[in-house]
Amino acid sequence: MITTDLLIIGAGPTGLFAVFEAGLLKLKCHLIDALPQPGGQLTELYPKKPIFDIPGYPSVLAGDLVDNLMEQIKQFQPGFTLGETASTLNKLEDGTFEVITNKGTVHHAKAVAIAGGLGTFEPRKPLIDNVADYEEKGVDYFVKNPEVYRDKNIVIAGGGDSALDWSIFLANVAKSVTLIHRRNEFRGALDSVEKVQELKNKGKINLITPAEVTGLKGDGHIEAITVEQDGNVFDLETDYFIPLFGLTPKLGSIANWGLNIEKNAIVVNNALDYQTNIDGVYAIGDVNTYPGKLKLILCGFHEATLMCQSVYNRLNPGKKYVLKYTTVSGVDGFDGSRKEAEKAVVKKID
Ligand SMILES: Cc1cc2nc3c(=O)[nH]c(=O)nc-3n(C[C@H](O)[C@H](O)[C@H](O)COP(=O)(O)OP(=O)(O)OC[C@H]3O[C@@H](n4cnc5c(N)ncnc54)[C@H](O)[C@@H]3O)c2cc1C
Repeated sequence: MITTDLLIIGAGPTGLFAVFEAGLLKLKCHLIDALPQPGGQLTELYPKKPIFDIPGYPSVLAGDLVDNLMEQIKQFQPGFTLGETASTLNKLEDGTFEVITNKGTVHHAKAVAIAGGLGTFEPRKPLIDNVADYEEKGVDYFVKNPEVYRDKNIVIAGGGDSALDWSIFLANVAKSVTLIHRRNEFRGALDSVEKVQELKNKGKINLITPAEVTGLKGDGHIEAITVEQDGNVFDLETDYFIPLFGLTPKLGSIANWGLNIEKNAIVVNNALDYQTNIDGVYAIGDVNTYPGKLKLILCGFHEATLMCQSVYNRLNPGKKYVLKYTTVSGVDGFDGSRKEAEKAVVKKID
């Protein structure tokens, strides 16, 4: 069982920044995310796009912002349960919480912050009758660990950034990479399209377009796919089939936890601390709603800050908290590190 002060469901930018604000208040955090890596929408949907409305950054790539947030919270040593979905939330008799994931990992926390964004990202699946029979038996909708594909034959389907980027990356890992797309044109970053063209010319990527995968074959594990191209139907042997057709967000299990939900978002008390109708459960970032709500990263950061103050007061009843600027107080990491501004020089002037 994992125990922590504040359990954060969702490791997007809001959840990550909450770790920093909680750390300043000496609260230990653990994050759960359904995705295999932190960063939420920024990592999963637009890592290479520049963001222009983060205070202090005239422009920052979404992926770089996540890297910086991870660097900023490192000193507070947060725990991560990645690749698992928080599926049940139980309030225990003593007012603490138990959150269990779809893989059975049990988390115990004094307070819970839901930073679930638009929800968990569900992969868009190909319309192939028996696709479910081969899920996790050769059909993968996410590349969780590229090493799985080392020296294997793989087929990737799709025409966006994920399909292009993973084809490029796995061309140096897998025995063979075949990229199949139903159009000749790809909707991705120009440099990725050009790189795939280059790898195709070098014989490192086998490109089949315009074509569709219409069938899967194999005894227990996938062994071949059926491809339709220009009216021709043929089979192609493969060890893995990775359809990367995009992701759709779903609030999922969170919707069954007894929270007040409006238009697929959790209603919170925005006049105070972003607490939900369940005492001790907060909702911050894109996942919440209140009058005037804006689904922006900087709004999530603000909500995370106020939420942490409320959690501190909840866990330390009667203890007065005096707001200190980090420029004055410095930052004491849980790893023993200390960051502080240079001390002013005290020197007598004769
Ligand atoms: C293309 C695009 C461009 C954008 N550009 C900008 C911009 O320029 N500026 C700006 O401010 N905003 C922008 N946004 C919006 C911004 O990305 C969101 O406001 C931000 O990601 C919200 O952060 P979050 O942490 O609240 O949620 P998310 O980033 O959505 O992260 C939520 C995380 O929670 C996880 N999760 C959900 N439910 C569960 C569960 N039950 N168990 C475990 N994990 C769960 C999800 O897997 C996800 O990783 C853009 C969005 C898109 C799609």
